[in-house]
Amino acid sequence: MHISPLNSKILREFPTKGNNILDIPTPICYSLGMDIPQTLQQAIQYFSDEQVCIDAVAFMRWPDGPRCPYCIGEDANNPYYLKTAKRWKCRSCRNQFSVKKFTIFEDSPIPLQKWLPALWMLVNCKNGISSYEIHRDLGVSQKSAWFMLHRLRLVVKTGTMGTKLGGPESEVEVDETFVGGKLRNMHRDRRERFAAQSGHTGGPTGKAIVHGILDRDLRQVRATVVPNVKRETLQSEVLENVKYGTKVYTDDAVPYDKLHSRYVHEVVNHAEEYVRGQVHTNGLENFWSLLKRNLKGTYVAVEPFHLERYVDEQVFRYNNRATKDNPLTDSDRFLLALSQVAGKRLMFAELTGKNGEIPF
Ligand SMILES: [Zn+2]
Repeated sequence: MHISPLNSKILREFPTKGNNILDIPTPICYSLGMDIPQTLQQAIQYFSDEQVCIDAVAFMRWPDGPRCPYCIGEDANNPYYLKTAKRWKCRSCRNQFSVKKFTIFEDSPIPLQKWLPALWMLVNCKNGISSYEIHRDLGVSQKSAWFMLHRLRLVVKTGTMGTKLGGPESEVEVDETFVGGKLRNMHRDRRERFAAQSGHTGGPTGKAIVHGILDRDLRQVRATVVPNVKRETLQSEVLENVKYGTKVYTDDAVPYDKLHSRYVHEVVNHAEEYVRGQVHTNGLENFWSLLKRNLKGTYVAVEPFHLERYVDEQVFRYNNRATKDNPLTDSDRFLLALSQVAGKRLMFAELTGKNGEIPF
C-alpha cells in the first residue's frame, strides 16, 4: 500500500464519516491512498469507468459529502444520488445536479474519462503537453484538446490570496524574461486585442515579458505576464508579493534600483559575474528554461494573449515538484489539481475573443 504525503494528508483531514461520507457506490475515499493510480497508464485505465470518475471528482470537491450547489448552509447537506441518471437530487430545493455542475467541466460533452487523464498529463508532464498529444492519446479532436488544456490551465492557476513571499530570514530571487514571438509579427487584430486586454506593448525586444519571484526557502515561484519593464511595473510586483525586510536578489537592471528602501537588496552584475556567493538568480533561470521548453513543446506558437495560462501551468508544476523535503508524486499533483476544479469556468468566447457557440 502506497500512501504518499498528500494522500495521507487528505486521509487525515477528511476522515470518513461512517456510511454518510458519500451517498454513492464505491466511494474513492475508501480506496484513497490504496489503489489510486500512480502512473499515466494506470490513470487512463482507472478513469475509464464513468462512475469512478464521478466518485473521484465528488470526493475531491466535497470531501465532507456532496452538497447541493443551489442551496446554502444546512439545506445543501442532504442530496441523494440517482444511480441511473448519475446525478444528485437535493432534498431541500428539489434541483438535480451532476458532479460537473459549477466546475470547469460544466457544459462539456467530453466525458470525465477523458478530462481526468488530460488533467493527469497536464500536471505531470514536465515539459508540458501539446493539444496534439491529447488529441492523439485521448481520441478527441485537436481543437477540443486545445480548449480542454486551456480550461485545465485555469484549474491549476495558483491564487496568492493576498499572501506574500519572503521574510526577514528569507532569500528571494527576482528576475524577468522575454518569451515568444515578437508582438509586431502578430496579426494586427490579434495584437490590438492583446494590447487592449493586457495593456501590453512589448518589451525592448518586442517580445512578451514574464516577471518572476522565487522564494528559496519555500521553493515557490510566482510568475506573471507584465506589460513592460518600467520601474513602477517591476517594483510593484515585488512590493505586492514580497514581505518588507526580505533579502532580494536581482540583476543590476535599473528598474530595481529603489528596492533597497524596503528590502535588503543585493545585485549581481550579469556583465561581470553570474554568482556572488548566495547572490544570484539561478533558481529563476532554471524556471525560465522549464517555461521556455514547455512553450516550445506545445508545437504551436503561443500568442501572448494566452501566455499567462502557460505560465500558470508551469508555476503549478514547479511549485508542486518533488523535492527531498516534499516528495510529492504524480497522483498527489493530480489530486491537488482535482481539488481545484470547482467554481471555475472558461468559455470558448473568452479564449478566442469571438462570440459563438461552444463546440466542445
Ligand atoms: Zn438544493
